[in-house]
Amino acid sequence: MNTFENDFLYLYQNFSAVEKKCLDCGGSIRGRTDKKFCSDQCRNNYYNRLNRDSNNYVRNVHGLLRKNRRILADLYNEGKRKVHRDALFALGYNFNFFTHVIETSSGQKFNYCFEYGFTDLGDDFLELRQNSQYIQYQ
Ligand SMILES: [Zn+2]
Repeated sequence: MNTFENDFLYLYQNFSAVEKKCLDCGGSIRGRTDKKFCSDQCRNNYYNRLNRDSNNYVRNVHGLLRKNRRILADLYNEGKRKVHRDALFALGYNFNFFTHVIETSSGQKFNYCFEYGFTDLGDDFLELRQNSQYIQYQ
């Protein structure tokens, strides 16, 4: 290796050791070598992007739950206490999403969306119920 190559290698190694790229915009970072972002704006962009997917998921599930609650609440407030499963389905109810299950002392299980719930009476009929009691957390 001649001196030119040696010098180049030396410069290259030092340059790449110092040269750091911003994780957000890819721009060069000056200053401390432990910095990951060129600016606060880039730091915010980066973490907002990371959080966006999980935030979207929570927002979508919450939207489904709110829709389910609205369907149960409307039926209940119209005075309906016994409804066919297909009626809920036709209104866009999503049976996979509920907030909690309450089992009565007689062993009936109610699936709740917030304060409105139902239990399966058999033959695809459901009994609606409202329970606004404060939930006790363990
Ligand atoms: Zn940047």
